[in-house]
Amino acid sequence: MSLLIKNGEIITANERYTADIWCENEAITRIDRDLAPARGAEVIDATGKYVFPGFVDPHVHVYLPCLGTFAKDTHETASQAALIGGTTTFIEMICPARAEGPLASFELWLSKAQGHSACDFTFHMGVARYDEQVEEEMTEIVKRGLSSFKIFLAYKGISALTDEELFRTLRLAKKLGVITTAHCENADLILELQRQLLSEGKTGPEWHHESRPPLVEAEGVHHLMTFARLLDAHVYVVHTSCEEALREAVNAKQPGVNVWVETLIQYLVTDKTYAERPNFEGAKFVMSPPLRDRRNQAVLWNGLRDGVISTLATDHAPFDFATQKRLGLTDFTKIPNGMPALEDRINVFYTNGVKRGRLDLHRFVDAASTQAAKLFGLFPRKGALQPGSDADLVVYDPNYRGTISVKTQTMNVDYNPFEGMAIEGRPSLVTVRGQVAVRDGKFVGQFGRGRFLQREPSHF
Ligand SMILES: [Zn+2]
Repeated sequence: MSLLIKNGEIITANERYTADIWCENEAITRIDRDLAPARGAEVIDATGKYVFPGFVDPHVHVYLPCLGTFAKDTHETASQAALIGGTTTFIEMICPARAEGPLASFELWLSKAQGHSACDFTFHMGVARYDEQVEEEMTEIVKRGLSSFKIFLAYKGISALTDEELFRTLRLAKKLGVITTAHCENADLILELQRQLLSEGKTGPEWHHESRPPLVEAEGVHHLMTFARLLDAHVYVVHTSCEEALREAVNAKQPGVNVWVETLIQYLVTDKTYAERPNFEGAKFVMSPPLRDRRNQAVLWNGLRDGVISTLATDHAPFDFATQKRLGLTDFTKIPNGMPALEDRINVFYTNGVKRGRLDLHRFVDAASTQAAKLFGLFPRKGALQPGSDADLVVYDPNYRGTISVKTQTMNVDYNPFEGMAIEGRPSLVTVRGQVAVRDGKFVGQFGRGRFLQREPSHF
């Protein structure tokens, strides 16, 4: 099957020009002016539209056990939502419990996605403890094509690594040539602050922020930087939410720590007052690290514009407000953490970033696609528009006007954190390896066609 995208304005991380793109056998085969369609090829007219490389979300949860419940999306609903929003590849977190073996977890997560997802996917492999079995199995998992680890410094007793385990995990990652992504918050500080607040009768979602203030996150980043520097490990700070935490990562770059920073779309457009909404509605906006004071938004936008922050993700984690979030009705520490955003990341980023003049089209593509592909061993298969790359294309209509609402979303959850937000642009056509998966904003893709992307270690 072949596909010809005509007259679109091609935008990548470093180029901008008008041309036609010819796709065959799942890949881009030619980019040139005035390509003539061969017989049987589908021709798409992209005049007046942008053509972006498929977007990559490097931090997503689909299968996610949490506090005795499960995040709401399946790989069918999640991949459909991702594609409608222009995300053609996502990297899901495998989150084993401490007692679970890595290989068994890897196989479980893979079985949930393979044969179900409509878009391509891969995983960051969670390390929830460290011993001989874990070391052996992590080594095997890297051979099977996962070249990034995920660790938690937060969630004491559930997934937080001790310092001894952190040291050994980063040492193994270094040896295997893989990058370690890390949730940086000090687990003990959170636990003590939670106890203190609850004992004072402060039980509502508005106290979630006070239990994990910016300093707790900054300490987590500083902690990781110390270990990464000693071990010369490559590390990636997930969901950076505030100036204090960002500064710790930036300061560590100077003496040579190999660190990259991710932020989330939620931190750019929502703030801690959302979690203070009355009648428990704030619970919709409980995630960790918490939504911050508004002053941080400009810092994060500037970081994205300058490239100090490499990537924009979602940490997509959908829990229903009517039932699941209510588990924490009388105790904010029992509210399942997370916000859905997989479907809306690109439109919200484009509208509030590019359209408001906060960053240009190239940094937009770089932060939402190319950097993640490069950091996690997917480039130039993903994150690029060039012959040989997978034909994952987003034909983007900058003249579209719409409003985000739970009523029209595909994500399988009963609220949308961006409810009522106007968007100024959306993908009109999205392809997955040369096959149209979204047409005029409607999903027309194929469940189970999404491929598990095996990745090579970097051997840095
Ligand atoms: Zn996460």
